[in-house]
Amino acid sequence: MAALRAAGGGARVTLFEHNLRVGRKLLVTGSGRCNLTNQGLNAAAYTVAEKGWMNAFLAAFSPADLRQELDALGIPTFATPDGWVYPLSESAQSAVSILEEALLQRQVNLRVAINITGFSHCITVFELQIGPPGQHRTETFDALVVAAGGKAYPELGSRGELFPSLARLGHTVNPLRPALGPIHARLGAYQLLKGLRFDVLAAILKGNRCLGETDGNLIVTEQGFNGPGVMNLSHWVALEEPASLKLRLDFLGQKASLFTGGMANRSRSQQSVQSYMSAFMAPKASDVFIRVAGLDPTLPLRDLTTREVAALTAALQQASFQVTGAGTFKDSQVTVGGVPVAEVDPTTCQSRLVPGLYLVGETLDVAGPCGGYNLHFAFGSGFLAGQHLANSQVTQSKETA
Ligand SMILES: Cc1cc2nc3c(=O)[nH]c(=O)nc-3n(C[C@H](O)[C@H](O)[C@H](O)COP(=O)(O)OP(=O)(O)OC[C@H]3O[C@@H](n4cnc5c(N)ncnc54)[C@H](O)[C@@H]3O)c2cc1C
Repeated sequence: MAALRAAGGGARVTLFEHNLRVGRKLLVTGSGRCNLTNQGLNAAAYTVAEKGWMNAFLAAFSPADLRQELDALGIPTFATPDGWVYPLSESAQSAVSILEEALLQRQVNLRVAINITGFSHCITVFELQIGPPGQHRTETFDALVVAAGGKAYPELGSRGELFPSLARLGHTVNPLRPALGPIHARLGAYQLLKGLRFDVLAAILKGNRCLGETDGNLIVTEQGFNGPGVMNLSHWVALEEPASLKLRLDFLGQKASLFTGGMANRSRSQQSVQSYMSAFMAPKASDVFIRVAGLDPTLPLRDLTTREVAALTAALQQASFQVTGAGTFKDSQVTVGGVPVAEVDPTTCQSRLVPGLYLVGETLDVAGPCGGYNLHFAFGSGFLAGQHLANSQVTQSKETA
């Protein structure tokens, strides 16, 4: 997006990519559908040190701005009823192909299969090191946009190689940690739920303090939990000592009122606990919750004491797990950490330390929840950088002409 915008504004642009093709990560986003942005995007939902910076960024580049820009590039979009925005084609593959063609049409010098191993700033130019240290050659440019991602899913191309160069230019690099990934936890008696999926409400707690809440589908795994139902909370495990955290799950999720309503009217019901529970989940799952609550599954509902109902409700809705860790970069979708946003301008993404240097996407210490937040930030920061870079280059060449 930075290259497209800069070239569209009249700058001569070279785009380096060490994969054989640009946009390899984009291809796998949204399970191949590419969840581009979100109509309900708001600064509060991002993990970022300065919400004011994020507000200024979103004021400069909103979801409507992204949809308009993509539309102009030939990628019309649609929003789901809950505001998640996808390409009309629902195909990340189509979106990448259209962006690739636009790069060529705007005469961006696309140089794929080239690894940038570092860069430096020398008076007014940037020297890019191409190839392995010791054997590298350099090429110089007037301005530089670092859009090299973080460290998540390294097999797709982003390995954090360029952070040392940013540090050498004086930028802070906050520690890089995986986010939007699994949460590992001690399952105890719940380990028999392994392999089952639930639509849950989830909260992460440090002592009595709730750090964050989310909802969505999760799967119970060998080591804990994975899926959207916990991914939005996994960055807390990266930021805090895991042993200080508990994950609380409500396995009934949106079905809770139906369940408690039925229980409240149980006084004449001859239905067994097991049969009642089966209306809400698979028998394998209901067996586990009944066992955790210490109940006899054959007991008719009318015979349940208030204390037994409370035990079952707690087993289902207040299941608490000691957190033991989070996933690695290999199984987490984004990176927290990187250059703090305070070191770049929110409306241009230009470095406040090195003029002509722009930092975008996961290079910056910004992480959003699932739902298009991260692609919005990557595209938006790229757009603002490309636009500012083009304007500055055109002004400079007019001044020197
Ligand atoms: C499985 C998965 C699903 C996701 N789904 C969604 C989703 O649906 N919606 C959403 O909002 N977000 C999603 N995300 C997150 C989103 O994809 C990222 O936040 C976003 O792509 C970050 O963009 P970026 O440009 O900063 O980095 P990247 O997309 O990682 O791009 C960086 C590029 O730079 C190249 N590069 C890196 N270092 C070098 C180097 N030294 N030399 C040359 N080239 C280099 C890389 O090969 C890569 O092509 C998903 C992520 C994953 C892993």
